[in-house]
Amino acid sequence: TTNHLRHVESMASFPSGAGHISHLNAIILGESLASEEDDLVYPSHDFSRHALIPSPHEYLEMYKRSIEDPAGFWSDIALSEFYWKQRWGDQVYSENLDVNKGNIKIEWFKGGITNICYNCLDRNIDAGLGGKIALYWESNEPGFDANLTYSQLLHHVCQLANYLKSIGVRKGDAVVVYLPMLLELPITMLACARIGAVHSVVFAGFSSDSLAQRIVDCKPKVVITCNAVKRGPKTIHLKDIVDAALVESAKDGVSIDVCLTYENQSALKRESTKWQEGRDKWWQDVVPKYPTTCEVEWVDAEDPLFLLYTSGSTGKPKGVLHTTGGYMVYTATTFKYAFDYKESDIYWCTADCGWITGHSYVTYGPMLNGATVVLFEGAPNYPDSGRCWDIVDKYKYVTRYSRKSLRVLGSVGEPINPSAWRWFFNLVGGSSCPISDTWWQTETGGFMITPLPGAWPQKPGSATFPFFGVQPVIVDEKGNEIDGECSGYLCVKGSWPGAFRTLYGDHERYETTYFRPFPGYYFTGDGCSRDKDGYHWLTGRVDDVINVSGHRIGTAEVESALVSHPQCAEAAVVGVEHEVKGQGIYAFVTIVEGISYSEELRKSLILAVRNQIGAFAAPDKIHWAPSLPKTRSGKIMRRILRKIASRQLDELGDTSTLAEPGVVDQLIALADH
Ligand code: ATP
Ligand code: MG
Repeated sequence: TTNHLRHVESMASFPSGAGHISHLNAIILGESLASEEDDLVYPSHDFSRHALIPSPHEYLEMYKRSIEDPAGFWSDIALSEFYWKQRWGDQVYSENLDVNKGNIKIEWFKGGITNICYNCLDRNIDAGLGGKIALYWESNEPGFDANLTYSQLLHHVCQLANYLKSIGVRKGDAVVVYLPMLLELPITMLACARIGAVHSVVFAGFSSDSLAQRIVDCKPKVVITCNAVKRGPKTIHLKDIVDAALVESAKDGVSIDVCLTYENQSALKRESTKWQEGRDKWWQDVVPKYPTTCEVEWVDAEDPLFLLYTSGSTGKPKGVLHTTGGYMVYTATTFKYAFDYKESDIYWCTADCGWITGHSYVTYGPMLNGATVVLFEGAPNYPDSGRCWDIVDKYKYVTRYSRKSLRVLGSVGEPINPSAWRWFFNLVGGSSCPISDTWWQTETGGFMITPLPGAWPQKPGSATFPFFGVQPVIVDEKGNEIDGECSGYLCVKGSWPGAFRTLYGDHERYETTYFRPFPGYYFTGDGCSRDKDGYHWLTGRVDDVINVSGHRIGTAEVESALVSHPQCAEAAVVGVEHEVKGQGIYAFVTIVEGISYSEELRKSLILAVRNQIGAFAAPDKIHWAPSLPKTRSGKIMRRILRKIASRQLDELGDTSTLAEPGVVDQLIALADH
């Protein structure tokens, strides 16, 4: 009780804008508890006991400090867990997030001199991790694999770094990387970081046009790729795509001196690869000739680390720029706590390094913690849909598909609906693994709202509470913060170390998109509601909010209701013009395999929404969708669905990040089915 009282007292002095705190406190105090309808899922006692943050008490204490004294909180972590060649100046951070007070500016640890590659590799090796496996690589073909210890990884990184220097790549130069999930991808990222070059990784599923656009944007000296890759049963000739992109970019006046090409023998022999003598170099012919040690290029914390494009779910992809020091501290810390990292863990993140998740939580976050990471080249359904569980078991050396080794599960990228959450929790995790449903963005660098497994009960479908140092606020249309149980626009108050610093070459778009809509705040573009216990529920993009007869309805809510129907596999809803209601709800649904779409099913899907949300949210139209248009990072592109729903077929917009263009035609054909 004394402990509880202490917390109640400390609440009195808590800064505003952290409304969730009092709610979470109520949960600790047992005032607002676990009724059936709350749907709280508690971590096991055993899990919590060993967790880094074992209860809300510890979280609250750290969170409180992180908000009241961000400089002290983050500099303590930065100094105790990382190597700095030289400490930053007097100011840990400086920021202006208010467009009315001048240009938007965010800086952390400015003047501090460090290197993220050194912190990932040399520092860990010096601490005795040289012989620890850094990367397990699992090929597309079961049975083919490889691995690298931290020391071996450092050798490879240094050889490439030396090669890059030899062809004139210097600090601040851009390097475009178009590689699949081979060991060479994290090696390349780390090698760039080692010499202060800025990597721009382009997901190796992008078309030559998209690649060309990104090359023109940052004008690299060198493009790094491989000749081909096998994804499932298909062979994709990446080098041909690069060749085509280089023809395009040359038309825009950007020509590349060197195209370094890794020979991926399992996919294609070098004899069968198209080649441009002079420009093209085989990785295996040149890189291994260089020394396995390479001096580090020490950089300022605010020197750029990488450039990366968003998924393009809501429009033309944005080129996000992250810098070194803040990003380093933030990704490492979020990784450690959100996954409750233990040294003996083998960690697998299925994201591709072509996306922010692969930057922060395949490469930098885990490596900074000296973790052992699994890198998977292939597809989750090849040779069959058991492949993921095969990999999980393989790296824990237990019998086929036992999944007994799993400890924490993760989810990211879109709101996870409660039905999917339960499947993941019960079936995959055997009802014993907390799920870290991490809400964040390419722009935020690292997790922003995330469960800390073991610390508090979860609610299926909620990303729960903010990470240390993050102040999420929900604002109304006019930009006023709203507290308590509420719903509105999700913004962030104050900066955090992992925040992006600009959109590459377009600081104006940066300010207009993110800081002008609600002056004084970072605007996320997402809708969010906060429930009576202070849990956060992401409701989808605000551009996608539907207004039916004055009721504002988030897409995620209606989609969750549809997907809770046992015969509905996936759903995407959009608004369409409606004479009476202003907007009507138009739902695209994918039915589970083996079931055929019928009038009866249509009615029962609508009923599911009426029952769970209310008659006002009942879809006006159900559009049967054998599959949905998605970005190459797997997100539903509702902006394209909106055009299909309103039959504005000549206005589909930027489709460059669409994974399978054929899906759009299929949907159009089924429009009046
Ligand atoms: P673009 O900005 O080009 O439209 P994008 O926003 O999809 O693309 P990302 O940065 O890859 O590009 O994705 C971030 C977005 O993904 C968030 O703004 C949010 O809408 C969604 N998201 C990510 N994680 C979660 C999560 N755990 N729960 C709900 N939504 C999430
Ligand atoms: Mg976005």
